[in-house]
Amino acid sequence: MENIYAKFGIDKKILDYSQKIIKELKPRFEEIDAVAEYNQAKVIKAMQDNRVDAQCFAGSTGYGYNDAGRDTLEQVYAHAFGTESALVRPQITCGTHALAIALSANLLPGDELLSPVGRPYDTLEEVIGIRPSPCSLAEYGVSYNEVELLPDGSFDYEGIRNAINERTKLITIQRSKGYAMRRTFSVSQIGELIAFCKSVKPDVICMVDNCYGEFVEVIEPSNVGADMIVGSLIKNPGGGLAPIGGYICGSKECVDRCAFRLSAPGLGQEVGASLDVKTSLYQGFFMAPTVVAGALKGAIFAARLYESLGFRVLPDGNESRHDIIQAVELGSPERMIAFCKGIQAAAPVDSYLTPIPYAMPGYNADVIMAAGAFVQGSSIELSADGPIREPYSVYFQGGLTWYHAKLGIMMSLQKMYEAGLVDIK
Ligand SMILES: *Cc1c(COP(=O)(O)O)cnc(C)c1O
Repeated sequence: MENIYAKFGIDKKILDYSQKIIKELKPRFEEIDAVAEYNQAKVIKAMQDNRVDAQCFAGSTGYGYNDAGRDTLEQVYAHAFGTESALVRPQITCGTHALAIALSANLLPGDELLSPVGRPYDTLEEVIGIRPSPCSLAEYGVSYNEVELLPDGSFDYEGIRNAINERTKLITIQRSKGYAMRRTFSVSQIGELIAFCKSVKPDVICMVDNCYGEFVEVIEPSNVGADMIVGSLIKNPGGGLAPIGGYICGSKECVDRCAFRLSAPGLGQEVGASLDVKTSLYQGFFMAPTVVAGALKGAIFAARLYESLGFRVLPDGNESRHDIIQAVELGSPERMIAFCKGIQAAAPVDSYLTPIPYAMPGYNADVIMAAGAFVQGSSIELSADGPIREPYSVYFQGGLTWYHAKLGIMMSLQKMYEAGLVDIK
């Protein structure tokens, strides 16, 4: 082991330190494997019950009429996530697009959108119009309100009750922390929040931004009352194989509207050729529970490792997990850059590149991103990123295999160590 890791320039000191930490994590890893086993069976059952066969993988072109494999894939998603309906399409370009469709399809002029969990993910600020943008919801006369979390990270139920009014049509709940130093919510916490919102206003639509959360637990927010769950196929549910796409799973009424918004009123789900990507979407969904398990092991290893070196990490090394993201508060731009260099240097693709901070569309600070991915920008593959702003946290996620995640994390520490930015006892 020492020999192979030495070829990457990893010091024996760093390898030994890492191995000691991994030994202590064995019981956690067993729990993760049990969740993956359950979810693997769940996905296989959904595929069997919908009679997935080789014909499902055939490509379609043009309008994509009668693309049975596309429709079956949507049934598989609906079945696995426990919803009436699903829209799973390569025409959905990313998570932000899926969320923008779900919001704009279900909010009309005069309606209000409420986020009861504080400010949503950076890219949604322009979708909503928090930062003015052409074609934002605000431009179409949809207002927005938010309720901050309480200082301890819990829901401000009183504030939420007061914020829900006769115009409140849709409530958006972001499961994962995104680029905030807050906690990710468990599915059961989300269930409580949804139940509360519906007790105040029974017909309000509850949508969950499920990005990075899929298959981390044995249930999803759609199993605890969410009317829609939304995510990206180049994150968890694509299993690293999906080359593009997004999903919206939920009630038939909500998903039908999303389909009309994605294509055109009157056309809906009937059109949309799947070209040649269906095998990857099916196979990726099949692989996803295992891939997510590997990513979770990486996240927990990173947490324990950096925590033991005195950095603030969120979640900490002992907490239960509700998404695959690991935040490490590094406290300086130099450490962020060194960390990302290590992740990059461990990649199977583009390992010779050096990540540097730059301005990205949708984000309000320079962002550094390290990834050497088979699918561009895929963050179920090993990646680290973060906006260069206080408190200088990197958000680490993914790894199609646990061993790759382990290599990347050891390399991140190696790069900081070489630059004299960290002490190892
Ligand atoms: C990644 C992410 C998004 C946006 O997804 P993109 O695919 O990058 O557009 C939205 N919300 C959360 C919480 C995310 O993690």
